[in-house]
Amino acid sequence: MQVLEKELTQVDIKKIRSDFPLLENTMRGKPLVFLDSAASSQKPQVVIDAISEYYEKQHANVHRGVYELSQNATDAFELGRERVRKFLNASSSDEIIFTRGTSESINLVASSYGRKFLNEGDEVVISTMEHHSNIVPWQMICEERKAVLRVIPINDKGEILLEKYRALLSEKTKIVSIVHVSNSLGTINPVKQMIDIAHDHNIPVLIDGAQATLHGKVDVQDLDADFYAFSAHKVYGPTGIGVLYGKREWLERIPPYQGGGEMIETVRFDKTTYNKIPFKFEAGTPNIAGAVGLGVALEYVQSIGYDAISSHEQHLLEYATEGLMQIEGLKIYGTADKKASVISFNVDGIHPYDIGTILDKLGIAVRTGHHCTQPLMEQWNIPGTVRASFAVYNNKEDVDQLIQGVKRAVLMLS
Ligand code: PLP
Repeated sequence: MQVLEKELTQVDIKKIRSDFPLLENTMRGKPLVFLDSAASSQKPQVVIDAISEYYEKQHANVHRGVYELSQNATDAFELGRERVRKFLNASSSDEIIFTRGTSESINLVASSYGRKFLNEGDEVVISTMEHHSNIVPWQMICEERKAVLRVIPINDKGEILLEKYRALLSEKTKIVSIVHVSNSLGTINPVKQMIDIAHDHNIPVLIDGAQATLHGKVDVQDLDADFYAFSAHKVYGPTGIGVLYGKREWLERIPPYQGGGEMIETVRFDKTTYNKIPFKFEAGTPNIAGAVGLGVALEYVQSIGYDAISSHEQHLLEYATEGLMQIEGLKIYGTADKKASVISFNVDGIHPYDIGTILDKLGIAVRTGHHCTQPLMEQWNIPGTVRASFAVYNNKEDVDQLIQGVKRAVLMLS
């Protein structure tokens, strides 16, 4: 099959799989088939080693001590920031804020930007396919500021309706917040075009890049994004750390998110002044080991290269789509023209949870449920889907196992 020949030439899949120790494990006594990277990807040995080595040799608190160890830890932490800058092609590392993850990055912007710029009757625009993390923080701040949340509709393929988007924007719109790649459907949104459209109205745009960094190159200057959020754990890095990129002009204009050590310049009981960016947004001791691990994860991804990664993943997506479509009664949700390697599906008359449970017994890890996109599930009036998501370490055998597993589940449950 053409797909498979191409697959072999794109990445050295054997070598890549051997970089991820967890993939050698068994689950339910079977070799593990891990198809839930959209929830969290596995970690290569280089990331695991970098974190251990940091704790073995470099750990102290950062930005505080005059002693050498603290300076070494600060250097390691700031190297992580510089690696993120390079990865996103931001113009300065001052524009890179470390957070706990995408959710915290979005909460930061909703809270800080919202308190400063949202007033009664103003509008915030998001889309139907947003993750709860890009809905709830906006609902909360809209409620507080008496602003209104407006939602861009999508078509049956799971694509944003650009004309409806244009029509939603007005002088009342104060910010647009859009997912780059949908975690439930795999849709790759035309975010560059959407940012251009918003900028024509002088409206800033936040991009939720939680799913995008796993699959393709992100260049915040090329996109002209005002804010860009992502989580380390979805791009082969550790949990508990993520990034908010913000254009300097915005980060300087919006107030701090949390108060504490590190984010201040001077503290007196009558008045506190704040540190410069990015530290103004990093109250308290940061996740130093996380920043080290994230930096190494991003280097790892770049060493493979996104051309090879996306080409490999696209072949898996095509091969899996083709195979699953042969199963009677199976419907795929999310058939956008531009799609990342995520497949959401259901089989007529069978609850997604039941399919997930049988797959689990076969050692195949997929996600079932609403994938934190309940409003999107309402579009099709379904409680949820089975979702298989592929990363660079997945291979053709994983897809074959999935297809055989779903066939078996359907036989058992029909
Ligand atoms: N946005 C999208 C599109 C996601 O897929 C996720 C996680 O699944 C998030 C936001 C939240 O990311 P985190 O839980 O790492 O904060």
